[in-house]
Amino acid sequence: MVIILSDDLIRQRESEKEFSNFFSNIMTAYREGKHIIIISPKYVKILLQDELVKQEAKIILKHYLNHNKSIINILDYVKVVIYVVPSSIELTRYSSIKSKIEFRCIYLSELLDSATIQKSIILGENGKDSDLYSFFAEYYRLKKNLDHLVIKYKPQTGGGSTIEKEYETIYRNKEEFCICLVDSDKRAPHKQIGDTARKVLKINVKMEKENFNMKCHLLILNTLMAENLLPDTFYKTAYKADVLKKKIISSLNILEKDDCNIKHYFNYKKGIECITSCDDCKSEIKYYLCPLVKKHNFLLKDNKFIPGFGNKVLEDFIDYEDKYIEIDKDERVQSHWIKIGAIVASFTLTCPAIRVM
Ligand SMILES: [Zn+2]
Repeated sequence: MVIILSDDLIRQRESEKEFSNFFSNIMTAYREGKHIIIISPKYVKILLQDELVKQEAKIILKHYLNHNKSIINILDYVKVVIYVVPSSIELTRYSSIKSKIEFRCIYLSELLDSATIQKSIILGENGKDSDLYSFFAEYYRLKKNLDHLVIKYKPQTGGGSTIEKEYETIYRNKEEFCICLVDSDKRAPHKQIGDTARKVLKINVKMEKENFNMKCHLLILNTLMAENLLPDTFYKTAYKADVLKKKIISSLNILEKDDCNIKHYFNYKKGIECITSCDDCKSEIKYYLCPLVKKHNFLLKDNKFIPGFGNKVLEDFIDYEDKYIEIDKDERVQSHWIKIGAIVASFTLTCPAIRVM
């Protein structure tokens, strides 16, 4: 997360009771490489002379002064930043039209505890979702040549409970920064988002009204599942030994000519199951995918027009070596990766940890 200490906050620091503790905490975040900290150079020099700043924090601040001059450029790349303002200013969220950044104002009281400066959480539905989403951020970092920065995050899932409960807990606690991602479960363009996405969205709307937390962000993917965002060549290469799976992508490419969004809605895990007469087909595919696939006679096996790749796709992709090369080559997928990557990176990009004497 990019945390900007506003000039106003520093100017009014003497009226902020906890400024000294807050500033030490922020300097620890910088030293440990948990977040990107931005302070105007002019005020860094003033703070170095200030008695309010503890000795240990000053040592780290000196390092900051000497090594962190160009960090302000990061604002060209992130979409959400945290802006710490003095308690005399009202809290708001505003977007800069020019830079397309959302500035989220918070008070220093929300950054006093050491728990509040730990790594941002990537919250996903299950298993390795968080790791998959971190690759979006990593891809974005590589494409933008942010070589001096790293992606750091704490993976978390709904675990024993469900993702909406977990999100609500994190949201209420107001400790760590958190980006929560869910797939849309949308099975056709005219269908609504699925149950899980709807539940998390409901929590988000409810909490935003009750007790807005600037540290949390919800992102609902606009595809059926994360599998819909993986490059064609990955599927072709990883499953080339399987006679049935081998043909899936070429079948989809044919369908894509009839409907350019088919790869958003195709169920990559289970495929498209259709009973010949369509009498028993689920309504979501009956009026969308069934007519499309029937036209091309894709019946392969067991009434499935097109089979799926099974349940291990994400794990296979995570272990897949050439993932970024394949994304580069796949225009449809790449635009999603850049867009999603920019948001996830806004929460997870940070400087490497430093060593100070
Ligand atoms: Zn059907």
